[in-house]
Amino acid sequence: MNKYLAEAQAMFPQLQKDQQAIHQFGGVGYDLRQSADYILAELKAMGVEAKEIIDCGIVATIGKGNGKTVLIRADFDALPQEEQTGLPYAATNGSCHSCGHDHHASMLLGTARMLKAHEDEIEGTVKLMFQPDEESVTGCAAMIKAGVLENPKVDVSFATHIEAGTDRDEVGKVIWSTGVTYSSSDRFEVTFKGEGGHGAQPHVTKDPITAMCQAVTSAQHIVSMEVPAKERAVITFGQIHSGTVFNIIPSESHVSGTIRTYSSDVRELCTRRFKEIMEGTAKMMNCEAEFEYRNSVDCVVNNYDLAVEMKPWVQEICGDNYFTSDEPLSFGSEDYCWIANAVPSVIMTLGAGTPANGYIYTAHNPHIHFDPNCMPYGVATFVNLAINWLKAHK
Ligand SMILES: [Zn+2]
Ligand SMILES: [Zn+2]
Repeated sequence: MNKYLAEAQAMFPQLQKDQQAIHQFGGVGYDLRQSADYILAELKAMGVEAKEIIDCGIVATIGKGNGKTVLIRADFDALPQEEQTGLPYAATNGSCHSCGHDHHASMLLGTARMLKAHEDEIEGTVKLMFQPDEESVTGCAAMIKAGVLENPKVDVSFATHIEAGTDRDEVGKVIWSTGVTYSSSDRFEVTFKGEGGHGAQPHVTKDPITAMCQAVTSAQHIVSMEVPAKERAVITFGQIHSGTVFNIIPSESHVSGTIRTYSSDVRELCTRRFKEIMEGTAKMMNCEAEFEYRNSVDCVVNNYDLAVEMKPWVQEICGDNYFTSDEPLSFGSEDYCWIANAVPSVIMTLGAGTPANGYIYTAHNPHIHFDPNCMPYGVATFVNLAINWLKAHK
């Protein structure tokens, strides 16, 4: 067995202790004080230099201070939902680590612990980034703005997201794409403004409900007729609201939803045409559309050269328990995109339990629990990647 994996396995009780503490603290967005203090205290106890560069955004560095710099990123925010797992360390404050970020933070603490023990093998610097507010996709950009990629300047970066509830999620399986991996995400909010009135006299009103329905239908044109057949795109309407009673034409209607794409060209096409169709249809129907995109992130594109170079280093930890391809292999979106846009980066997926082994829930379900045995694999993979990349690029 690889020596780092053996050490990470021996570290399992500590990994579990850290993960369960952070799990129980919960917390949403930047409201992660207890977890942030826990992480800072643990780093200090290891003798690792760390500082908080934004509220609950922590950076630690390990190494000799010369050579290149590898950044490893973990988020540690939970979601605003009542936890339903029944676990003895369940959060009870209306937040739930249903995306597994508690494991991410614990694995990064484990990585710090192991790297500190092997500091003499580090031919450069490893920077560890503990990030708040991934779920509302603002934490990563805030930490970049506060300088996480500078002093020392980051050369490459790695991250991982655990995953359970599908057949591919064998414990410790590392999955990564050599290209685009997470989709872009643009949340839209559209308000159709008309003029309300009596349901029996639509001719003296401007009906925002008809305008909204027409616009929702017209938006289907984009994916079916405008996005090239070889590309992928999703336009989802998740909410529509209007009106109070059957015989009043309301003055406003509202829709919200999300646009997901896997390339910047398709993203530009979809977001531009979607806005045009909403505004144009509103106008055609005698109304106006007030339009806003929120919580936008780019697609995450793994760096091809790095994604190919790292393969033997992953194999040293996982043996054959890995999968890599040029297809998008992750679900949803990630604000890690801003790091991947700035420096060559790879974000992986780490298997944390299949349905056959009782892990039937997927991310963001308040019943989900993950197999904690995934954590040593995550730690050993990070350590092996950082040490070997720095050795190969000194
Ligand atoms: Zn999530
Ligand atoms: Zn997540």
